[in-house]
Amino acid sequence: MDTTPKSTLITATAPIANQTHGGRAKCLQRLVRLELPVPQTVALSFDAVHEIAEGYMVDVNAILADLRPGALLCVRPSSEDPDWGGPGAVLNIGMNDARYVELSDTLGPAAAAALYLRFVQSYAVHVARLDPDVFEDVEDGGPDALSEMLQAYEAEAEEPFPQDPGEQLAAVLRSMARAWEGTSARLLRAAKGAPEDAGLGLIVQEMVPGLGQGECGSGVLQLVNSQTGLPQITGRYLSQSQGRDALGVDAEAIYLEQDERGPSLEELAPEAFAELKAHAALMRRKLRAEMQVEFVIENGRVHILDGVRVPRSSRAAVRIAVRLAEDGIIPAEEALMRVDAYSLNELLHRQVDPNAKRDVIGSGIAASPGAATGRLVFTATEAQASKSRGEPCILARRETSPEDVRGMHAAAGVLTEKGGMTSHAAVIGRGLGLPCIVGASRLRFDSRRKQLTAPDGRVFKAGEIITVDGTSGEVLAGEPAMVEAAEDDALVTLMAWADAARDIAIRANADTPADAQTARNFNAEGIGLCRTEHMFFDPGRLTVMREMIFAETSSGRAAVLARLLPMQRKDFRELFRIMEGLPVCIRLFDPPLHEFLPTTTAGQRELSEALGLPVSDVTRRVAEMGEYNPMLGLRGVRLGVTVPEIYDMQARAIFEATLEASRDGAPVVPEIMIPLVSAKREVELVKARIDAVAAAVKSERGADFTYRLGVMVETPRAALRADEIAAHTAFMSFGTNDLTQMTYGLSRDDAGRFMSAYVQQGVFPEDPFHVLDVDGVGELLQLGVQRGRMAKPEITLSICGEHGGNPESIAFCREAGFDYVSCSPFRVPVARLAAAQLAI
Ligand code: PEP
Ligand code: MG
Repeated sequence: MDTTPKSTLITATAPIANQTHGGRAKCLQRLVRLELPVPQTVALSFDAVHEIAEGYMVDVNAILADLRPGALLCVRPSSEDPDWGGPGAVLNIGMNDARYVELSDTLGPAAAAALYLRFVQSYAVHVARLDPDVFEDVEDGGPDALSEMLQAYEAEAEEPFPQDPGEQLAAVLRSMARAWEGTSARLLRAAKGAPEDAGLGLIVQEMVPGLGQGECGSGVLQLVNSQTGLPQITGRYLSQSQGRDALGVDAEAIYLEQDERGPSLEELAPEAFAELKAHAALMRRKLRAEMQVEFVIENGRVHILDGVRVPRSSRAAVRIAVRLAEDGIIPAEEALMRVDAYSLNELLHRQVDPNAKRDVIGSGIAASPGAATGRLVFTATEAQASKSRGEPCILARRETSPEDVRGMHAAAGVLTEKGGMTSHAAVIGRGLGLPCIVGASRLRFDSRRKQLTAPDGRVFKAGEIITVDGTSGEVLAGEPAMVEAAEDDALVTLMAWADAARDIAIRANADTPADAQTARNFNAEGIGLCRTEHMFFDPGRLTVMREMIFAETSSGRAAVLARLLPMQRKDFRELFRIMEGLPVCIRLFDPPLHEFLPTTTAGQRELSEALGLPVSDVTRRVAEMGEYNPMLGLRGVRLGVTVPEIYDMQARAIFEATLEASRDGAPVVPEIMIPLVSAKREVELVKARIDAVAAAVKSERGADFTYRLGVMVETPRAALRADEIAAHTAFMSFGTNDLTQMTYGLSRDDAGRFMSAYVQQGVFPEDPFHVLDVDGVGELLQLGVQRGRMAKPEITLSICGEHGGNPESIAFCREAGFDYVSCSPFRVPVARLAAAQLAI
């Protein structure tokens, strides 16, 4: 027979645990152990509540026997994790006609009626499940309203309001237990990560009336500001109130501290205020957390009803954790564990104020976090014009291409109709730290008429103000209030602790000096991927690049490449200078050449002028060079094999920059990476040419240098043949964007259109371009790692796809034995913290 008690009076020694009675019960026991003035409280275990839901009522008389005879009671939920929610509290159980008469004498008829009325209301709606409309809003809560309410109850329930406290309590317990088992409650908590069999405990506590003679009332108090996390005694207190009334009735609430709204609690009841502060400080120290204290004052005497974690913004979470550690209350490791790594994103970008009103006009994939407001523009040129007028703008494009990059630089935010997490707009947006939403396919983009039509029919024309919330993926009309980004001293401290704790290195993907500087500011340990093609998106260079692509002969191509060489050399020297000897991994030219061809008539005309060719010739060549499947066409190392002059030029630029940078600063050992390899012969061919360029530069300059050559593993075949590829290389970096695309046979640029349908229907648990598919793509990574390491144990292994900044993917890479992950510069802090949490 089960001998565990169904209900337990909470004392210092009663067996109460989070896993059996819930977090609130455990916290109350801690408060009892601290000898705080907590009213008598009985805890019902998960098992007991489950049995109640099944129809087996506990012995309510045993509960009542533990509590003061005649006390009014309240029942509150106690789930294992407070975030999983639970049914709302029910107050004033035990009120009946007899108690009403007694309390009318002691508290006065108005206060007694208010107590009774509140109970009848919540009992009618939540316990007897009567029509809420009948029991809502009561104008004045006096005795007349009470008798009306009791009559209404009798009419609706077809029986008088129950008078027996035991019967009332049993009914409340039953309704709360059943509410927890209901389908909508299950779905709600499952969404917050609760397991299927999550239990609910219930707390039955004696009420201390916050109504009556002398200073009476209820409120909450905490020692820190919820927005900033800085020390500040804040809270609310309302005289003659109970429950969490003080939080709801804004106009009447008396603030704890004196301000223009009226007298402070300190003035009304100075001793009680001092006592409360002392209790809160004790709770902070002993419960090792910033707690919000829920209290009642009864004729000047303080009672502590409950303590909950202080609600907090992401910024406050960092400061609270750091201060607890600095005060010696928790170790630094624990402070690191208490901050959600993802939430750092919010600190490093401007955000829509969480309290602002949001007029949502559409949504897409949240591709780059942060929020930006500006005038709607539809072309890169308009974006640049807008910037030169000093007007922030949002660039809306069906999708972006290299021609749009200058417009993206000029815009405050980007919105595209097409694309997914690794589309051009998303990658560039993240690199620039530019808020970006892609794949907003339900918004109609009409670039000819220069307007955007929302699914609800509203039309937004060029020049109108919209906001891109790249954190949530929502497009908003107008300009909501924003909160600014800041890396404050608390974050700097937390990050230093993270760096000391983690055991995997973090580099950044950086293509420009600005990216590299951001990477350094966020303490990246080097550049893990410099996509050199992004260096050619600059308008001046784009035309030279196009001339190179159009060159008919090797010598013609060499002549144009000679013009590109000094530009590239300067790029690399800048990167080396900024990174001051930290490793810089430069990837040779990767994209399909056709991406660089002009698609617009204006672009084709410009190129025809530069080449001295008729426009018709240019149009014809563009058509000829088009590919059916460019991502699987002439790109990556295939260019290196078939048009080797490009890689020759890049290798020369890297080596010359190496010598120049090493002369002026820290010695540089460049890393050169070959993209899209699928066969070892490709590596052999490219390696031979790069070695030859190195030898030529060394002899021309009469100076020596070393370099490391590596391969990007981003085709399934390269992962499978990693052993023979590793033999030729110093490092392998897994490009999980292309690897995901090729493993699934899923276009990274088109998948955004149907990804949400796939995720909603559970085909994929998440967008695999966003969260690494550890089962499929992950298995290829593991094979690549094992085979690569077997062939060359000292080989450096890393990941540089967009997954590199995701905490889940970092966990996988760490387990798999990677040396570092590389991610967008703005994700570096998230990655540093996530890596530390994995190592603790
Ligand atoms: C990759 O494919 O994972 C990668 C990093 O390269 P890119 O995104 O430039 O194709
Ligand atoms: Mg790639």
